[in-house]
Amino acid sequence: MSARILQGKEFAAKIKESARTEVEELKKNFGVTPGLAVIIVGENPASQVYVRNKHKTCEELGIISEVVAMPETTTKDELLARIDALNADKNIHGILVQLPLPDAIKAHSEEILNRINPLKDVDGFHPENVGKLVIGSPALVPCTPAGCIEMLDLAGIEIDGKRAVIIGRSNIVGKPLLHLLMARHATVTVCHTHTKNLAEVAREGEILVAASGKPNLVTGDMIRPGATVIDVGINRIAPKKLVGDVDFEAAKEIAGAITPVPGGVGLLTVAMLMKNVVKAARLQLEA
Ligand code: NAD
Repeated sequence: MSARILQGKEFAAKIKESARTEVEELKKNFGVTPGLAVIIVGENPASQVYVRNKHKTCEELGIISEVVAMPETTTKDELLARIDALNADKNIHGILVQLPLPDAIKAHSEEILNRINPLKDVDGFHPENVGKLVIGSPALVPCTPAGCIEMLDLAGIEIDGKRAVIIGRSNIVGKPLLHLLMARHATVTVCHTHTKNLAEVAREGEILVAASGKPNLVTGDMIRPGATVIDVGINRIAPKKLVGDVDFEAAKEIAGAITPVPGGVGLLTVAMLMKNVVKAARLQLEA
């Protein structure tokens, strides 16, 4: 039997609709229009596409969008000064620095991200937000893992009590997802490059999340029959060809539900960013 295909488009549309309603409420009840500033340094073509997409989605939902394009030659101090100015700007509720930064300042990425006011940290990467997530008091949570949870909820897939396996332990996806799934009472295993018998561990997952960045790492024999498979991977294998981490054709014959790439959970990331901008505006109203 073929798996249920979880199409990101329909879930992303629902999340955006709910963000739009919240934007309208904030305007009506508090006279506040949420604002997002995205800083892009240099001319990485993939980053430019992502930033354009964020800008477009803000405009669709009535969120103020400021794209701060800085040259490749920007120094760390210039970037920090720009973040300080946005931290002080009352019309901006969310700030994000598009990664990766140019090679000359890449080594300072952590210091740069940590300069963002935690209440405006809509990527959820600031240590204060990471700490809150770990202790079970989440404030602003990274968008991609939050999108995975939202997709499971909207698809009506139970998390409580399930065995969940995540392949990947990055700060952006694997680690925050561990805490989100654990908070929802799943029993979670996190796999990484040193995991032995990956196939055997993966097969334990009733929910299997692949976030390794390795095309076709997850083959059909690694999937428990009937499992929900969320493929977070976005891997460019040819100029116009994107694939995930999962061998989709094989997996869909074994899984109970699966996300495609492209068109799967990746589409929820920008939608969750919009929710975070609204949440940031609320947090700043309460502060
Ligand atoms: P990363 O390179 O920082 O981390 C990859 C993780 O996978 C590491 O923890 C590593 O230990 C693990 N891993 C790699 N190869 C493995 C193997 N053979 N066996 C077991 N574990 C292995 O990557 P990331 O930033 O977490 O991103 C992961 C993937 O998700 C990438 O394809 C990325 O493009 C995609 N991604 C998508 C979105 C989105 O949908 N919007 C957002 C972020 C990342």
